[in-house]
Amino acid sequence: MLTDSPGIHHVTAIVGDPQANVEFHVGVLGLRLVKRTVNYENMLAYHLYYGNRTAEPGTVLTCFPYPNDVPARLGKPQWESVGFAVPPGSLDFWAEHLDDHDVECSGPVERFDERLLRFTDPADTRIELVETDSPVDPWTDGAVPADHAIRGVHGVTALSANPYATAGMLDTLGFDMVGEEHEPADDGGDGDAADAGSDATRVRYRADGDHATVVDVLDRPADYGREGIGTVQHVAVRVESVDELYEWHSLFRERDFDVSRVRDRNYFHSLYVREPGGVLFELATETPGLTVDEDIETLGESLVLPDWFEEDRELIESQLPPLSVPGLD
Ligand code: ZN
Repeated sequence: MLTDSPGIHHVTAIVGDPQANVEFHVGVLGLRLVKRTVNYENMLAYHLYYGNRTAEPGTVLTCFPYPNDVPARLGKPQWESVGFAVPPGSLDFWAEHLDDHDVECSGPVERFDERLLRFTDPADTRIELVETDSPVDPWTDGAVPADHAIRGVHGVTALSANPYATAGMLDTLGFDMVGEEHEPADDGGDGDAADAGSDATRVRYRADGDHATVVDVLDRPADYGREGIGTVQHVAVRVESVDELYEWHSLFRERDFDVSRVRDRNYFHSLYVREPGGVLFELATETPGLTVDEDIETLGESLVLPDWFEEDRELIESQLPPLSVPGLD
């Protein structure tokens, strides 16, 4: 018996320079670097995790720095953006804070009765800050005062090649449709041609958990996208157990979806599935979690490797560029 997903587990983006990535997400957004490891498919590249104080599922953005990759082109089918939750009333602080760091932002705009700002990180990843109540325990030793600090992921937006198929996937995972809004044509202030030129319909889906529950599906004309620096590459949703992962795997196989085998990602088990709308999802367990190999107090302070890479530690450390983390180094 499959259980409804309570919401998002993590969001993963492809970015460029790792130092610029850490300076922005830690030094400007005030997230905590909660894991410094390598890409399990490419041990000579970083995999950087940002999150809240305790690195709990639903707060985590992970980044693959590929400085030599091509710039992304937004299009179908892709994840369009990631939104973080900030406390109601904090957007004035954020607008000024981003301006102080020379980050151009647009907004505030209102969407489904929530106010939000939009901007991009140094890789051109589209990011939103959304005013909403959240039970998440923020990182308070960072660059942003506790009153305004990010409370984890709020939600994500998908630009689907087939919104009906993506809606079906979300329904299968346990998300409910909760609203629909018309978005007039504009470029969101970020000058991105792929955003411009046509009206869109935004349909909101929500999981039943208490944080990181929102997935919006955008329906608007767009060319095919190209994955690269600035792409939100996949979104993982939380699932109950490894046993359930195998059940999900069977279900996706029965439906002829493009699904990976169940993988051990050290901090969770997961599978990847591209639904017929073309959008890449991951399903991930909440356990054992990011504190399995580090104490909460020292999360992210040193390079941690899974057992199967430990014998190559010397090589890995000699190949990775040095990383200076605001507040740590
Ligand atoms: Zn992932």
